[in-house]
Amino acid sequence: MNSTPTRIHLPKGGVLFADGDQPSSAYLVESGEMEISTRVRGQRMVLSRLGAGELLGEMAVFDTGPRSATATACVDTVLYVIDPEQVSERLAKTDPVIRALIESLLRRYRGMLETYRLAEPRWGAQAEVPSFERVHADAIVHADGEPSMHPTGVDKLRLESQLREALAHDGLDVRYQPILDIARQRVAGYEALIRWNHPVRGPVSPLELVGLAEESALIVQVGEYVFDTACAAVRRLVEAGAQPSPFIAVNVSARQLEHPGLIERVVARVDAAAVPRGSLKIEFTESQALDPALVRQAIELCHQHGIGVALDDFGTGYSHLTQMHRFEFDTLKIDQGFIGALLHEPRARAVVEAIIAMARALGAQIVAEGVESDETLAMLRTLGCDFAQGYLIGEAQPLDAILASLRAR
Ligand code: C2E
Ligand code: CA
Ligand code: CA
Repeated sequence: MNSTPTRIHLPKGGVLFADGDQPSSAYLVESGEMEISTRVRGQRMVLSRLGAGELLGEMAVFDTGPRSATATACVDTVLYVIDPEQVSERLAKTDPVIRALIESLLRRYRGMLETYRLAEPRWGAQAEVPSFERVHADAIVHADGEPSMHPTGVDKLRLESQLREALAHDGLDVRYQPILDIARQRVAGYEALIRWNHPVRGPVSPLELVGLAEESALIVQVGEYVFDTACAAVRRLVEAGAQPSPFIAVNVSARQLEHPGLIERVVARVDAAAVPRGSLKIEFTESQALDPALVRQAIELCHQHGIGVALDDFGTGYSHLTQMHRFEFDTLKIDQGFIGALLHEPRARAVVEAIIAMARALGAQIVAEGVESDETLAMLRTLGCDFAQGYLIGEAQPLDAILASLRAR
């Protein structure tokens, strides 16, 4: 994780960046007011004043040209730091035509500024008080005037910055939902589920969190946080005497897989944590189709290091039958949609029976998700399902609660 601050408190009169500074990021005003000024033919000129929800220094996320204006706090001001990575990934995925237009506009804007400033000295060099950016070598950018992003884009950037802050300052949490070994009637392991209690919004759905993190490279850090936390949790469960040694399953989305080296780093962490072999599993969940070459590579690597691989949400979206004969999944998780209908819909029961038979033939284990009643569990036992997960068995709990119940036994 880099050491760039995620949030800055700038006192009144504080200079965030000065003209000529080397930029490193953009900013979003959270509260307070910033003044953007420049000098034209020796005269100081105020370009704009920016309040809460407005962006400044955003050109730094596009290129590394020196700042062309100075940003000063009019009052005590709080700013979120927008990491260039938050934008660069999105820009890379943007329609090439739109990208070309943005790049062309930027070149024109810089050209215009240069024309204005001909024969002007570099003002940054004259700043009496070094700017925040100059003091913090890895700080930011280049000021321009009007905020250019759509409000929903700004909301996303703010949420992303808050997520980065949560990652850096212990604001995320992992809960563990028990998975029951149906035949032995005991908890065999847990699924790690990320939680974010946003200071203002309250709990943010993990699907929203993961979706947001996937839009930038932040998903890499989120994923590594979950793996580190899960590895530490396995250790503590083993130390607490959990018998037999339980497993923890961690979710990895298709987009996470696209980041090179992700699985290698996961494997290195699992090895470094020296947790018992087989105590970490990966669940592939899909926000888009899985890339077959990447999945095959990931499964091979996991198997070399004793990490089991599950196909999650089976029967929905992209987790279709073609995945089954192509890849050696160890576990198949039947989506809760089928399990919820099991008792009342004969066709759902027929599908679940067929999935169980198929998994048997392929040597994979089966987890039924969303088990909420005793009747459903009894039916799953009759059908020969291996594991059950759902509110009947237990909701996702903090590690300490699980450790406390182990000790109470
Ligand atoms: P999932 O992997 O299918 O996880 C199971 C979801 O079903 C969890 O929702 C869980 O709380 C919920 N659930 C468990 N038992 C029951 C039940 O009996 N009834 C019902 N109705 N729901 C039940 P949650 O925690 O909101 O997570 C939603 C999704 O977010 C997960 O679906 C997973 O796709 C994703 N996710 C969560 N944590 C992570 C993570 O660390 N990394 C990644 N990439 N994705 C994650
Ligand atoms: Ca899952
Ligand atoms: Ca699932």
